[in-house]
Amino acid sequence: MKIIQKELGVSTRSRTEMVDITGRVEAAVRDAGVRSGDVIVFCPHTTAAITINENADPSVVHDMLMVFDEVIPRSHPGYRHSEGNSDAHCKSSLVGCSEQVLIKNGTLSLGTWQGIYFCEFDGPRNRKVVVQIRGE
Ligand code: ZN
Repeated sequence: MKIIQKELGVSTRSRTEMVDITGRVEAAVRDAGVRSGDVIVFCPHTTAAITINENADPSVVHDMLMVFDEVIPRSHPGYRHSEGNSDAHCKSSLVGCSEQVLIKNGTLSLGTWQGIYFCEFDGPRNRKVVVQIRGE
């Protein structure tokens, strides 16, 4: 069994944003030559996250970011963290820092409407995503 790790750079352009990285994860799987196994997509940042959701209608991303902002406000009289980005830390933990996708016949076993997103909650910044591909 092979285990291959790769780092992907992601440059974000706004404070909050969801960047579709499905094609880049697919390319990493192809380059690894793994036909059957799985891939872990991990975000090593405390104010960003990884999620899987619809990548057909861009309104879904808009609506998700809007709801995250409603549930977790940018400012709150109770926040103590002096960096001023407590909302981004909370969103990161709410969404989660990794996803795992199965690899079948050399391709990602995603549903028809599913895509893998890097979620920026305190941009714009230069970020990275770690991808680990396991299998044979
Ligand atoms: Zn902070």
